[in-house]
Formats: sequence, C-alpha cells, structure tokens
Amino acid sequence: MNPSSLHSQPKAFSHLYIERKVLDHPKTHAIREKFSASHVIIIDHYKEVFNRPNQNFAAQSQSKNLILAHKEGKFLHIGSQYSDGFDHKQFFYASSVMGCLYDCDYCYLQGLYPSANTVLFVNLEDAFQELTPYLDHDTLVATSYDTDTMAIESLTHQTAQWLKFAEEHTNLHLEIRTKSANIKALKKIAPNERVTLAWTLSPQHIIDKYEHATPTLQQRLKAIQEAIAFGWKVRICIDPVIYTEDFDVLYPPLIESLFSIITPESIEQLTLGSFRLSQSHLRSLKKLRRSDIAFYPYTVRDEMATYPEPIESYILKSLLPKALQYLPRERIRTWQRQS
Ligand code: SF4
Repeated sequence: MNPSSLHSQPKAFSHLYIERKVLDHPKTHAIREKFSASHVIIIDHYKEVFNRPNQNFAAQSQSKNLILAHKEGKFLHIGSQYSDGFDHKQFFYASSVMGCLYDCDYCYLQGLYPSANTVLFVNLEDAFQELTPYLDHDTLVATSYDTDTMAIESLTHQTAQWLKFAEEHTNLHLEIRTKSANIKALKKIAPNERVTLAWTLSPQHIIDKYEHATPTLQQRLKAIQEAIAFGWKVRICIDPVIYTEDFDVLYPPLIESLFSIITPESIEQLTLGSFRLSQSHLRSLKKLRRSDIAFYPYTVRDEMATYPEPIESYILKSLLPKALQYLPRERIRTWQRQS
C-alpha cells in the first residue's frame, strides 16, 4: 500500500442514508446487507444530507458516508469540452454516482459538490431507458464521469449492468475510466470490443502526493496487464499531467516503465493531457485550501484554467516524442488548448 493510501484510505461507510422511496429497491437491500453494521438513517431526499451548508469536505473525505437515492432528472449529459468524445457521433456521460471513494487533490468534484459523501442512484434501469432512443446511431457513453465507478463496483455492480446493456446494443460504445486495481467484475463478463477501459496513470510520487486513497502505480499496471490478458481493450491516460519541478524525472520515465511492462501493441491508445479545470471549479478548490495544486499560477482563457502556454507546450514536447518511441502518432491522443 502506498503512503497516501495509509494516510487517507477512507473508512467504510459508518452511516447509510437511504431515501424513503428506494427502501424497497433490490440494490438497496443488497447494500444494506453488505453494510449491516452501518447506522441507517431514512431520509426524504438526498439533498437534505448531501447539500447541507457548511460541510467540511476534507474531514468528510476521511470518513465518507453513503447515500442511496432515486435519480429524478437526467442520467445522461452531453460530453463536455474538457473531455474527448473519440469521434463518436454522439457522446454522453452518465451520472449515476455523485462523489468518489478516491480523493485526488486536483479533482473537480471538490468544486462541484458541497459534500465528500457519495450518492448512489440505485435506479440505473432508468438510465438505460433514457439512452435507448439514441441507440439507432453510433453512441459513446462515459460511465465513470463524476466518480470512479470501478472503485465502487463491488458495492454498486453498475459497471456489470452497463456491460450487460452494451452487449445487447451494438451501436453503444462505453468508456470506463478508472484508477482502480480491482477488476473482478471484468473477469466474470466476456470482453466486448465496443468497451474501452481507460486507466489513468501517474508517477508514484504524484500518486503519493495528490491521488489519496488510490491504488499504487504498480497495482494499476498489474490490473491493466490482467485486463489485457482477459481480452479487454485498454486505453492509457497520462492525463492529467501535473507539472512540478520534478516533471523531467517523473513523467518521461513513467512512459518508459509503462512500456517495459505492457507491450505497445496491446493497448489501443495513449492519451496525454495537461491538468485543466474550469475557472469556477478552480475557485472552489482554492477556497478549500487543501493542496498546492489549487494555487499554481494558471492562465485562464475561455473560462478554462491550465498551465501557461510555454509549460503546456513543454509537457507535450517532452512526452510526445517519448510516446512515439512506442506507438504510432495515430494511436496517441493529445489534449492541448486551442490557440
Ligand atoms: S479518481 Fe477521478 S473522480 Fe475520483 S477523486 Fe480522483 S479525479 Fe476525482
């Protein structure tokens, strides 16, 4: 276990808040059974707990609670300008969980949500119903957008539900982005070539410093090897790249160590991208004062904060040639702000 995990691994949910209307949902029953020692509190609406004013995000991160709720609005949202739709005709992200078991200092969720607790919308069947009318056309859904769904899979089984749904709908492509090392769910299901598992990798030093409670680099690499061996399509995301004064000794060697373990032919793509965040989320991160990441002198254009252009270019100029030693250009996606 890495030092950050020792330091920051959140305690399993001591409290379960359950909306009255999902008390009888089968997923609620399964979760109550799993967390039989947790204190159960029945509520009318998740916002009573999740949107309470004056919550302490940092303190809650150390002891997260779980809220089981019914999603009333849309599960699907059009993909944002900060993410890549990989040229699919339609690109949505699905928001079936709010909050993440991991605790990355750079995560926009800290600016988005008032609470570090996790809300699980148990009625995922309604997301499938919402998506079905779009499935006459090529469609990509990112299932792990406002969370890391694989991190919480043993509890939710939502990834397994998505994979089963994708098996039955041939225009549906899934991207499951994760830092998790737990791929048990994937071993029980036949690989689907329309599903891409996208692993985010960072140098171990960056994981220790900024990606609290996440698996180590070695654990993630092992999970990637296993997923490939099972026949799953894998994309590697060195994104976000966090620029520090150690960048040169951290990031180019990360690409070397990645390809010393994983054969380039066995991955679909590599994504490289510098840290970026909407200005409003950055403001919220600053208010929380949790990490030096929030206080870097970013440049802001069109509401997006990222590194000043010389640093952004330096990141790409350093990493792209290194990646090209292993992969052809067409299998490397790069994110850089348009000038
Ligand atoms: S794993 Fe992703 S969603 Fe979870 S805290 Fe880290 S950046 Fe946020």
